[in-house]
Amino acid sequence: MDMKNARPETIVLHAGYRAEETTKSVAVPIYQTTSYQFDSTEHAANLFALKEFGNIYSRIMNPTVDVLEQRVAALEGGVAALGVASGQSASTFAVMNLASAGDNIVSSTDLYGGTWNLFANQLKQFGVEVRFVDPEDPEGFRKAADERTRAFYAETLPNPKLHVFPIKEVADIGRELGIPLIMDNTAAPHLVRPFDHGAAIIVYSLTKFMAGHGTTVGGMIVDGGNFDWAAHGDRFPTLNTPDESYHGAVWTEATKPLGPIAYIIRARVTLLRDVGAALSPFNAFQIMQGMETLPLRMKAHSENAQKVADFLAKHPKVGKVIYPGLATGKQRERADAVMKGGYSGLVGFELTGGLESGKRFIDSLELLYHVANIGDARSLAIHPASTTHSQLSVEDQVATGVSEGYVRLSIGIEHIDDILADLEQALEKA
Ligand code: PLP
Repeated sequence: MDMKNARPETIVLHAGYRAEETTKSVAVPIYQTTSYQFDSTEHAANLFALKEFGNIYSRIMNPTVDVLEQRVAALEGGVAALGVASGQSASTFAVMNLASAGDNIVSSTDLYGGTWNLFANQLKQFGVEVRFVDPEDPEGFRKAADERTRAFYAETLPNPKLHVFPIKEVADIGRELGIPLIMDNTAAPHLVRPFDHGAAIIVYSLTKFMAGHGTTVGGMIVDGGNFDWAAHGDRFPTLNTPDESYHGAVWTEATKPLGPIAYIIRARVTLLRDVGAALSPFNAFQIMQGMETLPLRMKAHSENAQKVADFLAKHPKVGKVIYPGLATGKQRERADAVMKGGYSGLVGFELTGGLESGKRFIDSLELLYHVANIGDARSLAIHPASTTHSQLSVEDQVATGVSEGYVRLSIGIEHIDDILADLEQALEKA
């Protein structure tokens, strides 16, 4: 069956693999190998010259990882994908693949803290400037861009603010200027398809909802195949000028016979080759196990989270609840423009009792885990003011959307009555 026309529920089980010929194994085998036997010197030479596609060495490609890559690409409606060791390496590669020293990207301010550090500190060390703009005003992206801007970058559903990003508005501005939008879709897989709204590249921390069981760290970059890199030759030298590390290959030219995959091929055969943040085949297998139930889980996460948000909104110790399914006005419009079938599992709320109340609430939880993670099948909670955001001044905490009594929940797929009972008893003690 052609997976191009299959539904997500089918794609996560079938894309990229059918019982392999040798053993007839139905489950995707874990190809725990570093290297692959060449048929002949000619075969080996063709593989190295990219005249023929095939396996060379597991730092650059692996058949188990390949199935996962095909599954995520099919789920997103992209042309190809690259599996990497973590979400952090996915976002690093996604930017490095386009931007060199002296270049810049324009990013939303609302980012995961690890990405913030990467952008504000690490990339700066390599001469890449990241210009941060408030996503509330899409025009900010246009204003911050210049001829050295290589990409726009944002998260679909950034926490703690949980304001859905205006994907189409910013993607449209980017397409007018010849700048691709890279979307981190970690918090809303299956519910949001960023390519449908004009994004050019998607990055994932597969560690979260995609793998879904809190066991495995992994990342993915997906190429939408919908951006004409060659039409904006001067803006993308990494793809349009000879690559000295590959016999002077010009990636938009060299990949022409293979389809619109210049971006993702370059990421694999140069960045992954040189930096080496490879995803292990065992981790790819684990992530695929989780992904098989992604559509079911996202529905369950969303249904439970909506009930939790409704419950919290009525609770006397709760001042404010933040959940796209409770949002009104522009925030709701933005959520409904892209989210289909649910609002995901992340819920934020403010305890009127502030810092001490937040700590008491967390310390009283019996079912929910107190962890710095999201997207596990289990329900999770964290109090940013005493943990992830404790190094920030109170003013900076507020700027990132964290008040002293703010608690972030990642609602799992347990029975809703058990989740609500635990929240109820912890709120009583808060
Ligand atoms: N992007 C988002 C939205 C995240 O929440 C995270 C991790 O929390 C990352 C990226 C980084 O992913 P990883 O921990 O897999 O490196």
